[in-house]
Amino acid sequence: MDLLEYQGKQLFGKHGLAVSDGKAVTTVEDAVAAANEVGYPVVVKAQVLIGGRGKAGGVKLAANEDEAREHATNILGLDIKGHVTRTLWIEHASDIDTEYYASVLLDRSAKKPLVMFSTEGGIDIEEVAEKTPEKLIKFHADPLTGLTKEEAIKIATDGGADADVIEGVADALVALYEVWIEEDASLAEINPLIVTPDREVKALDAKVSLDDNAEFRHPEREGLGDSANADPIEEKAKEQGVVYVKLDGNIGILGNGAGLVMSTLDVVAQHGGEPANFLDAGGGSDAAKVKQAVELILSNENVKAVLFNIFGGITRCNEVANGLIAAFEDLKPEVPFVVRLDGTNDVQGREILEAAALPNVYAAKTMDGAAEQVVALAQSSTGQEN
Ligand code: GDP
Ligand code: MN
Repeated sequence: MDLLEYQGKQLFGKHGLAVSDGKAVTTVEDAVAAANEVGYPVVVKAQVLIGGRGKAGGVKLAANEDEAREHATNILGLDIKGHVTRTLWIEHASDIDTEYYASVLLDRSAKKPLVMFSTEGGIDIEEVAEKTPEKLIKFHADPLTGLTKEEAIKIATDGGADADVIEGVADALVALYEVWIEEDASLAEINPLIVTPDREVKALDAKVSLDDNAEFRHPEREGLGDSANADPIEEKAKEQGVVYVKLDGNIGILGNGAGLVMSTLDVVAQHGGEPANFLDAGGGSDAAKVKQAVELILSNENVKAVLFNIFGGITRCNEVANGLIAAFEDLKPEVPFVVRLDGTNDVQGREILEAAALPNVYAAKTMDGAAEQVVALAQSSTGQEN
């Protein structure tokens, strides 16, 4: 789960990193009230899960109430690379002397946490990594001992931090590491980590991704993330424990096993179709689960045809067939379904489907043939509409 900047900053604050005081708001009036409360100058910041907000006009300084109102009005509703701004973070503006960069993430190939630091902050770090890699310090921490203060001092020194803030930067790195480890984050990034004219080291931005697999250890995470912008179908799927990702196309997809679903998306695309979702019904899908999945797929109104691609291993094809029949009885879908059943109990599954004679359901023998057919069906139903 990715956190909005202000949520990341709250975690930073909890672990002793310096951040500015502020308020999260969703209306212009609340933004103005918050600005008056934190005191001018303030920064009005779009809370969206995408970087480069500053360049897109989503981060503005306001010296007084009029400016705060103007910026809040302009930024609320602002579309930043497809992310509509629904929440603003209003914080007391900081004076900036220098902008650094700091992050902690998991380096899977090294099987260790990777701590990165650069004095080239405030800009795209990928660009720094590419053009001036010597300016990006990388340090693999020992996952058993964590990041020590001595190591952090060495990172800050090697990175060329100003001599008088080495200590402050090191403390920030240790705190950031603590955020990463204790909050079960997969990424904790500060860009920029600023030095103020008073030589205070402070996180001006926060990018934090939390590891969803650790959710059971963190009941306090409830309500975090960008719930205002979350897709309602994805939210519902999450509640039901189904892995569903909404996509832009019009062909609903259900498969069992992430790998099979991924290749189903590819095969559909290969035949010129556009998948409407990723849905992994998982192994051992029983009839009730299948019905639930069909309901999720059909709640996306872009769906013009549905492809079931089941390879029965643990999953029994007869169970899937029964689930589909139950779903049809209940939901009475108006779009065509192409069903490929292969593997455990496939013959039985196909017989069940045939006997049920569901309207608009086509059995396919191969994955490729199924994809071809579903693409044709989606195209013809789109054609009829226009
Ligand atoms: P991003 O563009 O999404 O990375 O958003 P940031 O939070 O990093 O803000 C972008 C830029 O706005 C920063 O690099 C700063 O230069 C500037 N900025 C943000 N907050 C302040 C502030 O409190 N004071 C000043 N002077 N500039 C700020
Ligand atoms: Mn930033």
